[in-house]
Amino acid sequence: MHPVKPDPLRLNQAPRCNARTRRGTSCQSPTVRGKLRCRMHGGAEGSGSPPGNRKAFKHGRYSAEAIAQRREVAALLRACLDQLGAMGDV
Ligand SMILES: [Zn+2]
Repeated sequence: MHPVKPDPLRLNQAPRCNARTRRGTSCQSPTVRGKLRCRMHGGAEGSGSPPGNRKAFKHGRYSAEAIAQRREVAALLRACLDQLGAMGDV
């Protein structure tokens, strides 16, 4: 999974997390690749999850859009059945 082989000498120079710990010192753990904070911390610009709870989206079956679409199809079907029922009365 790692595109770069871990090299202890190089890992020592990895960028460090600057989050303030409960002791008031800075965290100093290596940052997540491409981010400003370590795996335990967030809050810095560009760290943490993507905005808008986007990771919670699975298939969209219950998205407002999908629900509205099903509602429309059901209404159309109901209208068709009503029409057929009315035609049967003649
Ligand atoms: Zn940290």
